[in-house]
Amino acid sequence: MIAVPAEDTLPLRTSAMAEHFDVPEPAVDRYARIFDGLPAREQRQVQVIAFHAAVVNLAARHTGCPAAECPTCDDVREALAIAMAVVRTDITPSLSASRQR
Ligand SMILES: [Zn+2]
Repeated sequence: MIAVPAEDTLPLRTSAMAEHFDVPEPAVDRYARIFDGLPAREQRQVQVIAFHAAVVNLAARHTGCPAAECPTCDDVREALAIAMAVVRTDITPSLSASRQR
């Protein structure tokens, strides 16, 4: 199970990591404008899709990892478990609904 930091420390940890990786402010603004322009329900869906795509892209970049034991692979595995749960819970209800028609 993924270690979820306390909700109040997550923004600080996010900011610290963004600073460490030199995330450009215009990139943050670009995504914030996209999210801010959407209705609340659609905003969450688009945010989840964006995170989902980011996780899959990170995993794809790390596929050549030669290490037998790697903490990044462990984190990628956990993130993909979450991504697969999103796929399963997104797809299964729509499949169930279409079968009932
Ligand atoms: Zn690795």
